[in-house]
Amino acid sequence: ILYASARDVTGKIQLEQQLRKQAIRDELTGIYNRHHLDSIILREMDRADRFNKPISIILFDLDHFKRVNDTYGHQVGDDILRGISQIVEKTIRESDILFRIGGEEFLILLPETSMAGAMILAEKVRIVLEQHIHPTVGGQTISLGVSERMKGESFRYLFKRADLALYQAKLGGRNQTIASEAETLLPMAYVVLNAGKEWETGDQLIDRQHQE
Ligand code: GH3
Ligand code: MG
Ligand code: MG
Repeated sequence: ILYASARDVTGKIQLEQQLRKQAIRDELTGIYNRHHLDSIILREMDRADRFNKPISIILFDLDHFKRVNDTYGHQVGDDILRGISQIVEKTIRESDILFRIGGEEFLILLPETSMAGAMILAEKVRIVLEQHIHPTVGGQTISLGVSERMKGESFRYLFKRADLALYQAKLGGRNQTIASEAETLLPMAYVVLNAGKEWETGDQLIDRQHQE
């Protein structure tokens, strides 16, 4: 009985581990997915706040990727996505984290890195990919947007700034990196507020309403 139940538990644990792995990794490329980014980002920003360290993101998107699919087919397109994921993983440091957040959009999270360092890495990634030649397609370039988190900035705002910079890189002719100016003002609030214990009044109803 003991043997059977132990085997049962092992099987369950393996299944759970497998499911967990599937949930945080992208099926096509094997790198982390958007869901995993959402689940770790608050913790990473919190850590940056606590130790007073910078944190930056690099957002990138493949240039004219629709043409690749249209010309060579979806299989070749998928092959490019896998290849790019592998090359970027090899180029970044162990503490940097790569995510596939959309079809052909990726994000690199750079803990303890300010804009200057993030720009250096972004350019390194851009050049490595520019120089890589795929046997069927040839070159595949990317455009990048970089933003460093301002104190108290929400992830939504930080991401939006990187996305705007990426859009400018596309407009500027693609295959380039643009840094987001910290003072870029968007029509949305940039701070994230967390209801702290010190704000509690003692009245449960009022406290709950404040938190909401
Ligand atoms: P731009 O330089 O402006 O980014 O041009 P683009 O053609 O890359 O941009 P657009 O957003 O118009 O097209 C993105 C294309 O990416 C459309 C779609 O066919 C392709 N794509 C998205 N996800 C996948 C995927 O998982 N596999 C393959 N093969 N293609 C994908
Ligand atoms: Mg895109
Ligand atoms: Mg694209």
